[in-house]
Amino acid sequence: MQVNIFWFRRDLRIEDNAGLYHALKDGIPVLPIFIFDCNILSRITDKADARVTFIYDTLQRLKSELISLGTDIDVRYGNPNEVFEILLKEYSIKAVYTNNDYETYAKNRDKDVKDKLLSQGCGFHSFKDHVIFEKDEVVKPDGKPYTVFTPYKRRWLENLNAESGDSQNSPFLNTYPTKKFFASFMKSEIKSNFPTLTEMGFSRSEIDIPSVSVPSVIIKDYHEKRNFPSVVGTSKLGIHFRFGTISIREKVKKAAFLNQTYLSELIWRDFYAMILYHFPHVEKSAFRPEYNNIQWRNDESEFQAWCQGMTGYPIVDAGMRELSNTGFMHNRVRMITASFLTKHLLIDWRWGEAWFADKLLDFDLASNNGGWQWAAGCGTDAAPYFRIFSPDAQTEKFDKSHDYIKKWVPDLGTSSYPKLIVDHKMARERCLKVYKEGLDRK
Ligand code: FAD
Repeated sequence: MQVNIFWFRRDLRIEDNAGLYHALKDGIPVLPIFIFDCNILSRITDKADARVTFIYDTLQRLKSELISLGTDIDVRYGNPNEVFEILLKEYSIKAVYTNNDYETYAKNRDKDVKDKLLSQGCGFHSFKDHVIFEKDEVVKPDGKPYTVFTPYKRRWLENLNAESGDSQNSPFLNTYPTKKFFASFMKSEIKSNFPTLTEMGFSRSEIDIPSVSVPSVIIKDYHEKRNFPSVVGTSKLGIHFRFGTISIREKVKKAAFLNQTYLSELIWRDFYAMILYHFPHVEKSAFRPEYNNIQWRNDESEFQAWCQGMTGYPIVDAGMRELSNTGFMHNRVRMITASFLTKHLLIDWRWGEAWFADKLLDFDLASNNGGWQWAAGCGTDAAPYFRIFSPDAQTEKFDKSHDYIKKWVPDLGTSSYPKLIVDHKMARERCLKVYKEGLDRK
């Protein structure tokens, strides 16, 4: 029996899923699969990683959903290319369907898998699902990619509304009605090899995952409350966007109706995915190459103090402790802590980027890299290097009554709380000097 395979990756849902829709619509039986990629898992040092547990639990839920539809999911562990070698022996595959991933590792992986499949006479079809506009869909009139957010956003919105005149009817937000074709799921017995967390060398994480359902009032009031870390003013949907447990089209439609500021944040997400696609060098070095000349101090013990939330700056420490304890950090505090590491301590932004990548539930290479390069001053819309956040002034503005600080730094004012790791005024002047020297060196 010939089958089509649908390969789940960062799109862990069966509703409104572009690639799955196209696979099912083709009409022959569709075998859903997921591969725990040993190349990715082996790089994770915390064996109780919350994202791995989240994926595992989400797959268990997907499995139950699929079983109730009379089908199943085949979950494997290994190197994707080798897994496909095995699948090619086990099934007569017409084509593999999946959704686009814009990271360099993923692009190379997909190319290898595609080449293998094509060489065996099978198809490989990949679709846009993770973002609203991808690749060259939002470019400048001369066809070049945007590198500044505001004009990108203007063009993004024009594109969204071009055909329909209003976002609610935009064809780019149409749902993919997978349900209509559920009958195409493979019904005969599926050999499911679902490995356990232990078999993959992991254990269960104790970290709670933010809910997938967000009260509308949070989105409605987003523009007023989103900057205050002690308030529940943001959606905390990052992990769900990251792994596709929600549909970006559905959320953009809602945002366009309820709150333009929230919509803007979702456009930032598309923007950074586009930047990573067109400028893959950002993964390893500064978007603006002249910033590669900055002489970072890279003091190991200061880096450890920052990681552990022991810098003596309460707002920085609160953020770093929130991150370690929950896998989340409020956006305002991400900006403060990232700025502090790069500018006050003069530690390479890539060190901080890697720490966030290990800890954030919503870690996404494109957005994390964009956020870090912004904070360090070397990115697309970067904060100019001479604009250096004062942790105290930020606290005064965004945590005036210290509610956030009190929650995460209960030892503040006790003898166990550290002294300031660095003097703000001295650090500011040092930063200006070192950045200027680096930039003059080009
Ligand atoms: P909300 O404020 O409710 O926003 C809704 C969604 O919009 C987010 O879940 C996210 O998908 C998107 N979004 C919001 N702000 C941004 C932004 N500035 N850039 C891109 N997308 C955005 N976001 C990530 O998704 N993954 C990361 O790894 C990440 N790392 C960051 C690192 C630094 C140094 C900084 C300054 C920002 C980073 N961000 C990252 C952006 C932002 O901080 C988070 O998206 C946001 O805090 C997640 O919380 P939320 O889900 O409550 O977001």
